[in-house]
Amino acid sequence: MRDDPNPARADRDSAPRIVIIGGGFAGTTAARALERRLRTAEIHLLSAENHLTYNPLLPEVVGASVLPGHVVAPLRQMVRRARVHQVRVTAIDTAARRVHYRGGCETGSLGYDHLVLACGNSANLRMIPGLAEHALPLKTVGDALFLRNRVIARLEDAELTENPTLRRWLTTFVVVGGGFSGVEVAGEISDFLAESRRWYRHAELEPPRVVIVHGGPHLLPELPERLGRFTERKLARHGGVEVRLSSRSRAIDARGVTLHNGSRIDAGTVVSTIGTAPNALIEALPAEKQRGRLCVDADMSVPELPGVWAIGDCAAVSNSRANGAPCPPTAQFALRQGPQLAANIARRERGAPTRPFGYRPKGLMSAIGHNRAVARIWGVNLSGFIPWLLWRGFYLLYIPTFARKARVYLEWNWAMFFPPDIAHLRFTRTVDERDGS
Ligand SMILES: Cc1cc2nc3c(=O)[nH]c(=O)nc-3n(C[C@H](O)[C@H](O)[C@H](O)COP(=O)(O)OP(=O)(O)OC[C@H]3O[C@@H](n4cnc5c(N)ncnc54)[C@H](O)[C@@H]3O)c2cc1C
Repeated sequence: MRDDPNPARADRDSAPRIVIIGGGFAGTTAARALERRLRTAEIHLLSAENHLTYNPLLPEVVGASVLPGHVVAPLRQMVRRARVHQVRVTAIDTAARRVHYRGGCETGSLGYDHLVLACGNSANLRMIPGLAEHALPLKTVGDALFLRNRVIARLEDAELTENPTLRRWLTTFVVVGGGFSGVEVAGEISDFLAESRRWYRHAELEPPRVVIVHGGPHLLPELPERLGRFTERKLARHGGVEVRLSSRSRAIDARGVTLHNGSRIDAGTVVSTIGTAPNALIEALPAEKQRGRLCVDADMSVPELPGVWAIGDCAAVSNSRANGAPCPPTAQFALRQGPQLAANIARRERGAPTRPFGYRPKGLMSAIGHNRAVARIWGVNLSGFIPWLLWRGFYLLYIPTFARKARVYLEWNWAMFFPPDIAHLRFTRTVDERDGS
């Protein structure tokens, strides 16, 4: 066990120690901005993974449009001065101003002057009975890789069988949730199935089915209804995607999904893109929460806990440029909160007044498969190929590090002219097959 001395002192005259928990969009942008604003500060970035995951491109990993390694960026290559620790934070002692963590080989703790909570939220796998056991969430790059392999494995099995009922089950894919992630992953799976058709002629004897089950009256509830309807039509026309609106899943089992009205969809793969749960660290803190997110003051400090700040998906930050409405849990907001928080910590260090968070969002976009997207940008509704180009350009701009941008750009162009990668990757070690096990 390693215990660093606690730097928190009332008469502190040395540089502050700032501990950031979470290497996502919020934590890394905060670390980078703090490096610039507080040149002498000691900055520690603690994260369970040693990389940032560019979540908006996870559906593209599922559809094999982008390689998994290209949607992650190593934290050590993103920051300059901050010390990166690949550890899981297990507890926060706000009275002693100390965080406790567990690394690969040892446990330890670190004292702080400022603590930035940027640990995001978790997938809620308890929302529907059977979801945890039988559905596949899409939250991490591991989830995306697993799902991509599952789609290919189902096609391989369908290619083998002579049983049409089994073949139909294997090639039916249900996506629970018709928000951004649900629509994007359904579009990607349907594109992948269409593009790999020629190698799975036997499996194709039963046309593959992709079904979106969505509780609301139209897809993409964050966008105007017109765009939701457009998405529904395009998904149906180009990808053959079936959309079940105003339908809630009652239970998920090994054979498929039961809907609220009692009807069944038998499917070999069920993907869940709904439901979030608070991060366990946030849940354990003695502070007020709003729907699982930590309540913070307008400047992103936690009122009950001196020296503690919170940003990103784990915090309920109000937006001064939207009449104080809570910011939605999106990358767009996390990316802006990091630098504004760094500026506030620097102000606090100088004894200057902090400022409220404010950001006017540019708009919302969603790819819907088949080189189409829908968007609402500066109040204008757009749909079709042009917004799809905008969608790609926008995300390319925000992919961290130049090397990643170049790779994703090349890969997107590659995918336009060459067939998708249908290799089924197995992550198993070599075993001695003579031992009979
Ligand atoms: C599939 C998918 C698609 C999305 N698409 C879009 C999109 O198109 N546009 C958009 O704006 N937003 C999108 N989002 C939402 C966006 O990804 C999140 O809003 C954003 O990632 C939030 O950033 P964050 O830094 O707060 O949290 P996260 O990115 O979740 O990062 C949290 C970090 O904290 C770490 N962590 C958590 N607990 C601990 C612990 N105990 N110890 C150490 N480390 C810990 C995690 O490992 C992670 O590195 C999407 C999300 C998903 C899942």
